[in-house]
Amino acid sequence: MENQPFTVRSYPRAILHIDADAFFTSVEQALDPTLRGKPVVTGQERGIIACASYEAKARGVKRGVSLGDARRLCPGLIVLPSDYESYSLYSKRMFNIMRQFTPCVEEYSVDEAFLDITGMRRVYRCSYEEIGRKIQKEIHNELGMTVSVGLSLSKALAKLCSKFRKPRGFTGVQGRYIHILLQRTALEQVWGFGPSTVNLLTKYGLRTAYDFALRPQPWAAGLLKKPGREIWSELRGDSVWPVDTADKATYGSIMKSKTFTPPSRDKEFIFAKLIKNVEAAFMKARRYHLRPRRLGVILRRQDFRHDGLEAQLSRATSSTLEVMPLIRTMFEQTFAGQREYRSTMIFLGALENDQIDQFDLFEDRLKIDDLFRVTGAIDDINRRYGRHTVRSGTALFLPHKPDNPRDMEHARKQLLFPGETPQRRLNFPRMSIKV
Ligand SMILES: [Mg+2]
Repeated sequence: MENQPFTVRSYPRAILHIDADAFFTSVEQALDPTLRGKPVVTGQERGIIACASYEAKARGVKRGVSLGDARRLCPGLIVLPSDYESYSLYSKRMFNIMRQFTPCVEEYSVDEAFLDITGMRRVYRCSYEEIGRKIQKEIHNELGMTVSVGLSLSKALAKLCSKFRKPRGFTGVQGRYIHILLQRTALEQVWGFGPSTVNLLTKYGLRTAYDFALRPQPWAAGLLKKPGREIWSELRGDSVWPVDTADKATYGSIMKSKTFTPPSRDKEFIFAKLIKNVEAAFMKARRYHLRPRRLGVILRRQDFRHDGLEAQLSRATSSTLEVMPLIRTMFEQTFAGQREYRSTMIFLGALENDQIDQFDLFEDRLKIDDLFRVTGAIDDINRRYGRHTVRSGTALFLPHKPDNPRDMEHARKQLLFPGETPQRRLNFPRMSIKV
């Protein structure tokens, strides 16, 4: 096998990818020091784990696991409802610390950022590795939580590096060692390769990112078009995706839930209620130019227990019509006929910004464009004539009556400071200090 470096230049561009370790639970542990060192999870309101602390992960508790299973795996598990308000404040503080080092920061998600620090060696009189470690240390000191850092020549490479060691890892890979990193990288770990792309590449006998990068560029471009050509360049250390500093709305997730009284066993009624939440949640996502990559469907029973399922999409989408078949499947698998339900909930997670294109082959571009045009038209009509003027046929037989808004909310949302309203709030995280 050929084993030549792709480039011998160390850092023609120096890109950092900074990814917070177990972000939601780290924020909880930073806010309440008594939680440190303990197995903590968030996601109580969904009945499915949204984030698990490393102490919980060590005992086999992972994101997406139901709370019942998690409690069996880990007796003494501390389960918290999500406090997205505090998470988004910590997220802002984390990005602000990064901006003290360079203005070139792209807020990629609530707990991830790319930084372009090319040319900063002279400013700080130290190596790129040292700059990366300084930022990592500063975040730790200021926020009391850890991040993992990747440093390399492009965004795609930096993203691979930050995952290499976790938590509190630091991995820097300069030009002459890129090929070694790629040899240890499976195709599905490459940013931008969805399952069907991986399938196709495997059929051509490729196994690792290195196998892909070794192919001639016209081959990659011929097979995977523009995205393929770009990923090929990025992997070989030729940065083509700029760090995008444009302001983005950083919502960690979107959740819509409605309680109905009396509780019901009527399958179609419950599904219709869920679809109404789905439409509202996706409308909000589109308003903020966000697309979820994870979906959760949760049905809450009369005894306040949950049945729920979470799914990972192969490609982020903001089209309600596109996810409808999947929602139906998830509902069918979740719904247990003999039970009485009191509310439905939809959760959109792993939100990505519209501008960042996640691509996969074989998707039917024309059909997707059509779906988006229809969805856009529906949004326009609903904006003009009121919410739910146009809605899914499934929800049509629901009566127009106000729903009972007794959602399970985090304490911070129920307790308002003087002068606050539910819409306008002071930007304070909730502190759990006992006086
Ligand atoms: Mg993270």
